[in-house]
Amino acid sequence: MESNKVRLRFAPSPTGPLHMGGVRTALYSYLFAKQHGGDFILRIEDTDQNRFVPGAEQYIIDALNWCGIIPNEGVGFGDGKHAPYRQSERKPLYKQYAEQLIGSGHAYYAFDTAADMEIKRKQAESTGKSFMYDAQTRMQMQNSLSQPASEVNNLLNNNTPYVIRLKVMPDNEVAFDDLVRGHVVFNTNIVDDKVLLKSDGMPTYHLAHIVDDYLMQITHAVRGEEWLPSAPAHILIYKYLGWESKMPHYAHLPLLLKPDGHGKLSKRDGDRLGFPVFPLNWTDPITAEISSGYRERGYLPQAFVNMLALLGWNSGTTQELFTMPQLINAFSFKHIHKAGAKFDPEKAKWFNEQYVRALPD
Ligand code: GLU
Repeated sequence: MESNKVRLRFAPSPTGPLHMGGVRTALYSYLFAKQHGGDFILRIEDTDQNRFVPGAEQYIIDALNWCGIIPNEGVGFGDGKHAPYRQSERKPLYKQYAEQLIGSGHAYYAFDTAADMEIKRKQAESTGKSFMYDAQTRMQMQNSLSQPASEVNNLLNNNTPYVIRLKVMPDNEVAFDDLVRGHVVFNTNIVDDKVLLKSDGMPTYHLAHIVDDYLMQITHAVRGEEWLPSAPAHILIYKYLGWESKMPHYAHLPLLLKPDGHGKLSKRDGDRLGFPVFPLNWTDPITAEISSGYRERGYLPQAFVNMLALLGWNSGTTQELFTMPQLINAFSFKHIHKAGAKFDPEKAKWFNEQYVRALPD
Protein backbone atom coordinates (compact mmCIF):
# COMPACT_ATOMS: atom_id res chain seq x y z
CA MET A 1 0.00 0.00 0.00
CA GLU A 2 1.29 3.44 -0.94
CA SER A 3 0.88 4.82 2.60
CA ASN A 4 3.16 2.16 4.05
CA LYS A 5 5.99 3.03 1.74
CA VAL A 6 9.30 3.79 3.44
CA ARG A 7 10.17 7.45 2.83
CA LEU A 8 13.21 9.31 4.12
CA ARG A 9 14.32 12.85 3.57
CA PHE A 10 17.56 14.72 3.67
CA ALA A 11 16.73 18.21 4.92
CA PRO A 12 19.78 20.47 4.91
CA SER A 13 19.72 24.21 5.45
CA PRO A 14 21.50 26.15 2.68
CA THR A 15 23.84 27.97 5.05
CA GLY A 16 27.16 27.08 3.40
CA PRO A 17 28.91 24.11 1.83
CA LEU A 18 27.65 20.71 2.90
CA HIS A 19 29.95 19.21 5.52
CA MET A 20 30.90 15.53 5.07
CA GLY A 21 28.85 14.80 8.22
CA GLY A 22 25.81 16.05 6.34
CA VAL A 23 26.67 13.86 3.36
CA ARG A 24 26.82 10.89 5.75
CA THR A 25 23.31 11.71 7.03
CA ALA A 26 22.08 11.80 3.43
CA LEU A 27 23.87 8.54 2.66
CA TYR A 28 22.40 6.58 5.56
CA SER A 29 18.92 7.86 4.71
CA TYR A 30 19.41 6.92 1.07
CA LEU A 31 20.73 3.44 1.92
CA PHE A 32 17.80 2.65 4.21
CA ALA A 33 15.24 3.97 1.71
CA LYS A 34 16.71 1.93 -1.15
CA GLN A 35 17.00 -1.20 0.98
CA HIS A 36 13.26 -1.02 1.56
CA GLY A 37 12.25 -0.07 -1.97
CA GLY A 38 11.34 3.33 -0.60
CA ASP A 39 11.80 6.96 -1.55
CA PHE A 40 14.56 9.39 -0.75
CA ILE A 41 13.66 13.08 -0.78
CA LEU A 42 15.70 16.30 -0.78
CA ARG A 43 13.99 19.09 1.16
CA ILE A 44 15.67 22.46 1.54
CA GLU A 45 15.12 24.01 4.98
CA ASP A 46 15.60 27.69 4.28
CA THR A 47 13.31 29.30 6.86
CA ASP A 48 16.15 31.19 8.52
CA GLN A 49 16.62 33.94 6.00
CA ASN A 50 19.46 35.55 7.96
CA ARG A 51 21.59 32.48 7.40
CA PHE A 52 20.86 32.01 3.70
CA VAL A 53 24.03 31.69 1.61
CA PRO A 54 23.82 32.03 -2.18
CA GLY A 55 25.12 28.97 -3.99
CA ALA A 56 24.70 26.63 -1.02
CA GLU A 57 21.59 24.95 -2.41
CA GLN A 58 23.25 24.23 -5.76
CA TYR A 59 26.29 22.94 -3.89
CA ILE A 60 24.09 20.43 -2.03
CA ILE A 61 22.56 19.24 -5.30
CA ASP A 62 25.97 18.94 -6.98
CA ALA A 63 27.42 17.08 -4.00
CA LEU A 64 24.59 14.52 -3.96
CA ASN A 65 24.96 14.02 -7.70
CA TRP A 66 28.71 13.52 -7.43
CA CYS A 67 28.25 10.95 -4.64
CA GLY A 68 25.52 9.09 -6.50
CA ILE A 69 23.05 9.70 -3.65
CA ILE A 70 20.20 10.55 -5.96
CA PRO A 71 16.83 11.66 -4.55
CA ASN A 72 13.57 10.46 -6.13
CA GLU A 73 11.94 13.79 -5.36
CA GLY A 74 13.04 17.20 -4.25
CA VAL A 75 14.70 20.48 -5.09
CA GLY A 76 16.82 19.92 -8.20
CA PHE A 77 15.56 16.36 -8.70
CA GLY A 78 12.07 16.79 -10.09
CA ASP A 79 8.75 17.27 -8.40
CA GLY A 80 6.96 14.42 -6.77
CA LYS A 81 3.44 14.92 -5.53
CA HIS A 82 4.61 16.83 -2.44
CA ALA A 83 6.17 19.86 -4.16
CA PRO A 84 7.32 22.47 -3.36
CA TYR A 85 10.28 21.08 -1.43
CA ARG A 86 11.79 24.39 -0.44
CA GLN A 87 10.36 25.50 2.89
CA SER A 88 10.37 29.20 2.00
CA GLU A 89 7.93 28.32 -0.81
CA ARG A 90 5.71 26.48 1.68
CA LYS A 91 5.43 29.45 4.04
CA PRO A 92 1.61 29.87 3.88
CA LEU A 93 1.17 26.29 4.96
CA TYR A 94 2.61 26.37 8.46
CA LYS A 95 0.65 29.08 10.24
CA GLN A 96 -2.60 27.10 10.39
CA TYR A 97 -0.90 24.37 12.41
CA ALA A 98 0.54 26.87 14.87
CA GLU A 99 -2.96 28.33 15.18
CA GLN A 100 -4.44 24.87 15.62
CA LEU A 101 -2.13 24.45 18.61
CA ILE A 102 -3.27 27.78 20.03
CA GLY A 103 -6.88 26.66 19.59
CA SER A 104 -6.27 23.46 21.52
CA GLY A 105 -4.39 25.27 24.32
CA HIS A 106 -0.98 23.87 23.43
CA ALA A 107 0.55 27.09 22.14
CA TYR A 108 0.25 30.81 22.77
CA TYR A 109 1.07 34.24 21.35
CA ALA A 110 4.11 35.95 22.82
CA PHE A 111 4.72 39.67 22.31
CA ASP A 112 8.03 40.07 24.13
CA THR A 113 10.44 42.36 22.32
CA ALA A 114 14.10 41.55 21.83
CA ALA A 115 14.85 44.16 24.52
CA ASP A 116 12.42 42.47 27.01
CA MET A 117 14.11 39.15 26.38
CA GLU A 118 17.56 40.67 26.86
CA ILE A 119 16.55 42.09 30.25
CA LYS A 120 15.30 38.68 31.41
CA ARG A 121 18.45 37.03 30.17
CA LYS A 122 20.66 39.50 32.03
CA GLN A 123 18.59 39.09 35.22
CA ALA A 124 18.93 35.32 35.09
CA GLU A 125 22.66 35.57 34.35
CA SER A 126 23.22 37.81 37.36
CA THR A 127 21.99 34.94 39.53
CA GLY A 128 24.21 32.47 37.67
CA LYS A 129 21.41 30.88 35.63
CA SER A 130 20.44 30.97 32.00
CA PHE A 131 16.99 32.20 31.12
CA MET A 132 14.48 29.65 29.95
CA TYR A 133 11.04 30.63 28.63
CA ASP A 134 8.93 27.94 30.29
CA ALA A 135 6.23 27.17 32.87
CA GLN A 136 8.37 28.82 35.58
CA THR A 137 8.80 32.11 33.77
CA ARG A 138 6.07 32.47 31.17
CA MET A 139 3.62 34.27 33.48
CA GLN A 140 6.19 37.07 33.95
CA MET A 141 6.38 37.60 30.20
CA GLN A 142 4.15 39.38 27.67
CA ASN A 143 1.95 36.69 26.20
CA SER A 144 -1.59 35.49 25.74
CA LEU A 145 -1.37 33.41 28.93
CA SER A 146 -0.20 36.23 31.18
CA GLN A 147 -2.35 39.02 29.68
CA PRO A 148 -6.13 39.41 29.77
CA ALA A 149 -7.96 38.42 26.58
CA SER A 150 -8.97 42.03 25.87
CA GLU A 151 -5.34 43.15 25.93
CA VAL A 152 -4.29 40.25 23.69
CA ASN A 153 -6.99 41.21 21.20
CA ASN A 154 -5.79 44.81 21.23
CA LEU A 155 -2.23 43.77 20.60
CA LEU A 156 -3.25 41.49 17.73
CA ASN A 157 -5.58 44.08 16.22
CA ASN A 158 -2.81 46.67 16.34
CA ASN A 159 -0.51 44.32 14.43
CA THR A 160 1.95 44.08 17.31
CA PRO A 161 4.67 41.67 16.26
CA TYR A 162 4.33 38.29 17.91
CA VAL A 163 5.74 34.80 17.88
CA ILE A 164 3.81 31.62 18.63
CA ARG A 165 5.30 29.46 21.36
CA LEU A 166 4.70 25.87 22.33
CA LYS A 167 3.17 25.51 25.80
CA VAL A 168 5.12 22.74 27.46
CA MET A 169 3.50 21.11 30.51
CA PRO A 170 5.98 20.84 33.38
CA ASP A 171 6.66 17.67 35.38
CA ASN A 172 5.85 15.24 32.61
CA GLU A 173 7.91 12.55 30.95
CA VAL A 174 8.37 12.21 27.22
CA ALA A 175 9.84 9.01 25.86
CA PHE A 176 10.57 7.59 22.45
CA ASP A 177 12.59 4.84 20.83
CA ASP A 178 15.50 6.14 18.85
CA LEU A 179 16.79 3.87 16.10
CA VAL A 180 20.37 4.45 17.23
CA ARG A 181 20.14 5.21 20.93
CA GLY A 182 17.26 2.99 21.96
CA HIS A 183 14.69 4.07 24.54
CA VAL A 184 15.19 7.71 25.52
CA VAL A 185 13.29 9.46 28.33
CA PHE A 186 13.19 13.19 29.04
CA ASN A 187 11.55 15.21 31.78
CA THR A 188 9.59 18.14 30.32
CA ASN A 189 11.12 20.50 32.90
CA ILE A 190 14.20 20.73 30.70
CA VAL A 191 12.15 21.61 27.60
CA ASP A 192 11.56 25.30 26.90
CA ASP A 193 8.49 26.85 25.29
CA LYS A 194 9.99 26.75 21.83
CA VAL A 195 9.09 29.33 19.23
CA LEU A 196 7.03 27.64 16.50
CA LEU A 197 6.24 30.62 14.31
CA LYS A 198 8.51 33.66 14.10
CA SER A 199 7.43 37.28 13.89
CA ASP A 200 8.18 37.31 10.13
CA GLY A 201 5.54 34.59 9.71
CA MET A 202 8.17 31.94 8.99
CA PRO A 203 8.02 28.72 10.95
CA THR A 204 11.03 27.63 12.98
CA TYR A 205 12.72 24.32 12.27
CA HIS A 206 10.73 22.77 15.14
CA LEU A 207 7.35 23.37 13.51
CA ALA A 208 8.40 23.24 9.86
CA HIS A 209 10.11 19.88 9.86
CA ILE A 210 7.17 18.27 11.66
CA VAL A 211 4.54 19.69 9.33
CA ASP A 212 6.64 18.70 6.32
CA ASP A 213 7.56 15.24 7.55
CA TYR A 214 3.87 14.65 8.23
CA LEU A 215 2.59 16.00 4.91
CA MET A 216 5.39 14.33 2.93
CA GLN A 217 4.61 11.01 4.64
CA ILE A 218 8.13 10.57 5.98
CA THR A 219 8.55 7.31 7.89
CA HIS A 220 12.12 7.67 9.21
CA ALA A 221 13.91 10.92 10.11
CA VAL A 222 17.68 10.64 10.29
CA ARG A 223 19.52 13.68 11.64
CA GLY A 224 22.52 14.80 13.64
CA GLU A 225 22.70 14.22 17.36
CA GLU A 226 22.67 17.99 17.99
CA TRP A 227 18.89 17.69 17.58
CA LEU A 228 18.42 15.16 20.36
CA PRO A 229 17.82 17.80 23.08
CA SER A 230 14.96 19.22 20.96
CA ALA A 231 13.41 15.81 20.34
CA PRO A 232 11.10 15.91 23.41
CA ALA A 233 9.58 19.18 22.13
CA HIS A 234 9.09 17.52 18.75
CA ILE A 235 7.36 14.51 20.29
CA LEU A 236 5.03 16.90 22.16
CA ILE A 237 4.20 18.77 18.95
CA TYR A 238 3.26 15.50 17.23
CA LYS A 239 1.09 14.59 20.20
CA TYR A 240 -0.61 17.97 20.41
CA LEU A 241 -1.33 18.01 16.66
CA GLY A 242 -2.88 14.56 16.98
CA TRP A 243 -0.27 13.04 14.66
CA GLU A 244 1.44 10.74 17.12
CA SER A 245 0.68 7.60 15.15
CA LYS A 246 2.26 9.20 12.07
CA MET A 247 5.44 10.27 13.83
CA PRO A 248 8.51 9.08 11.92
CA HIS A 249 11.07 6.87 13.64
CA TYR A 250 13.90 9.17 14.63
CA ALA A 251 17.55 8.21 14.28
CA HIS A 252 20.05 10.62 15.86
CA LEU A 253 23.49 10.08 14.39
CA PRO A 254 26.65 10.51 16.45
CA LEU A 255 29.04 13.30 15.54
CA LEU A 256 32.07 13.04 13.30
CA LEU A 257 35.04 13.80 15.53
CA LYS A 258 38.48 15.28 14.94
CA PRO A 259 41.24 12.72 14.31
CA ASP A 260 42.33 12.97 17.97
CA GLY A 261 38.75 12.34 19.10
CA HIS A 262 38.45 15.70 20.85
CA GLY A 263 35.50 17.63 19.52
CA LYS A 264 33.53 17.94 16.36
CA LEU A 265 35.33 17.70 13.02
CA SER A 266 35.46 21.20 11.59
CA LYS A 267 36.71 22.99 8.52
CA ARG A 268 39.60 24.33 10.58
CA ASP A 269 40.84 20.79 11.34
CA GLY A 270 40.84 20.10 7.62
CA ASP A 271 42.89 23.24 6.89
CA ARG A 272 45.28 22.49 9.76
CA LEU A 273 45.83 18.83 8.97
CA GLY A 274 45.56 19.08 5.20
CA PHE A 275 42.43 17.11 4.37
CA PRO A 276 39.05 18.25 3.05
CA VAL A 277 35.89 18.18 5.15
CA PHE A 278 33.69 18.95 2.14
CA PRO A 279 32.80 16.75 -0.82
CA LEU A 280 33.48 19.44 -3.46
CA ASN A 281 35.46 22.68 -3.60
CA TRP A 282 33.53 25.64 -2.25
CA THR A 283 34.23 29.28 -2.89
CA ASP A 284 32.84 31.55 -0.23
CA PRO A 285 30.58 34.06 -2.05
CA ILE A 286 31.70 36.94 0.19
CA THR A 287 35.36 36.36 1.02
CA ALA A 288 36.17 34.29 -2.13
CA GLU A 289 38.04 31.93 0.19
CA ILE A 290 38.24 28.42 -1.23
CA SER A 291 37.61 25.33 0.90
CA SER A 292 38.89 22.21 -0.74
CA GLY A 293 36.76 19.22 -1.62
CA TYR A 294 37.42 15.52 -2.01
CA ARG A 295 36.52 15.62 -5.70
CA GLU A 296 39.17 18.22 -6.54
CA ARG A 297 41.72 16.38 -4.39
CA GLY A 298 41.44 13.40 -6.69
CA TYR A 299 39.15 11.18 -4.66
CA LEU A 300 36.79 8.91 -6.52
CA PRO A 301 33.18 9.34 -5.41
CA GLN A 302 32.86 5.59 -4.74
CA ALA A 303 35.83 5.76 -2.36
CA PHE A 304 34.46 8.83 -0.60
CA VAL A 305 31.04 7.18 -0.14
CA ASN A 306 32.57 3.91 1.06
CA MET A 307 34.77 5.75 3.57
CA LEU A 308 31.84 7.84 4.86
CA ALA A 309 29.58 4.81 5.27
CA LEU A 310 32.11 3.24 7.62
CA LEU A 311 32.51 6.35 9.75
CA GLY A 312 30.30 5.26 12.60
CA TRP A 313 28.77 2.15 11.06
CA ASN A 314 29.96 -1.38 10.30
CA SER A 315 28.24 -4.32 8.71
CA GLY A 316 28.86 -6.58 11.71
CA THR A 317 31.72 -8.20 9.73
CA THR A 318 35.28 -7.07 9.02
CA GLN A 319 34.47 -6.18 5.41
CA GLU A 320 35.60 -2.67 4.52
CA LEU A 321 35.14 -2.33 0.78
CA PHE A 322 31.54 -1.93 -0.34
CA THR A 323 29.95 -0.83 -3.59
CA MET A 324 26.77 1.23 -3.30
CA PRO A 325 24.52 -1.82 -3.97
CA GLN A 326 26.43 -3.74 -1.28
CA LEU A 327 25.98 -0.86 1.17
CA ILE A 328 22.27 -0.78 0.40
CA ASN A 329 22.12 -4.45 1.20
CA ALA A 330 24.19 -4.38 4.36
CA PHE A 331 23.09 -1.15 6.05
CA SER A 332 21.22 -1.20 9.35
CA PHE A 333 20.64 1.35 12.11
CA LYS A 334 21.45 -1.39 14.60
CA HIS A 335 25.12 -1.27 13.66
CA ILE A 336 25.56 2.47 14.00
CA HIS A 337 27.84 3.21 16.94
CA LYS A 338 26.48 5.40 19.71
CA ALA A 339 29.80 7.14 20.33
CA GLY A 340 31.19 9.76 17.96
CA ALA A 341 33.21 8.52 14.99
CA LYS A 342 36.83 9.66 14.80
CA PHE A 343 37.80 10.76 11.32
CA ASP A 344 41.08 9.27 10.12
CA PRO A 345 42.56 11.06 7.07
CA GLU A 346 45.00 8.20 6.45
CA LYS A 347 42.12 5.76 6.25
CA ALA A 348 40.37 8.06 3.77
CA LYS A 349 43.51 7.89 1.57
CA TRP A 350 43.58 4.12 1.95
CA PHE A 351 40.03 3.83 0.64
CA ASN A 352 40.85 5.99 -2.35
CA GLU A 353 43.96 3.95 -3.15
CA GLN A 354 41.90 0.75 -3.23
CA TYR A 355 39.47 2.25 -5.71
CA VAL A 356 42.12 3.94 -7.85
CA ARG A 357 44.07 0.65 -8.12
CA ALA A 358 40.97 -1.16 -9.25
CA LEU A 359 40.47 1.25 -12.17
CA PRO A 360 41.34 -0.03 -15.67
CA ASP A 361 44.65 1.41 -16.97
N1 GLU B 1 17.69 21.62 8.59
C1 GLU B 1 18.15 20.78 9.66
C2 GLU B 1 19.67 20.80 9.69
O1 GLU B 1 20.27 21.16 8.69
C3 GLU B 1 17.67 19.37 9.39
C4 GLU B 1 17.64 18.46 10.54
C5 GLU B 1 16.76 17.28 10.11
O2 GLU B 1 17.19 16.50 9.28
O3 GLU B 1 15.63 17.18 10.60
O4 GLU B 1 20.27 20.46 10.68
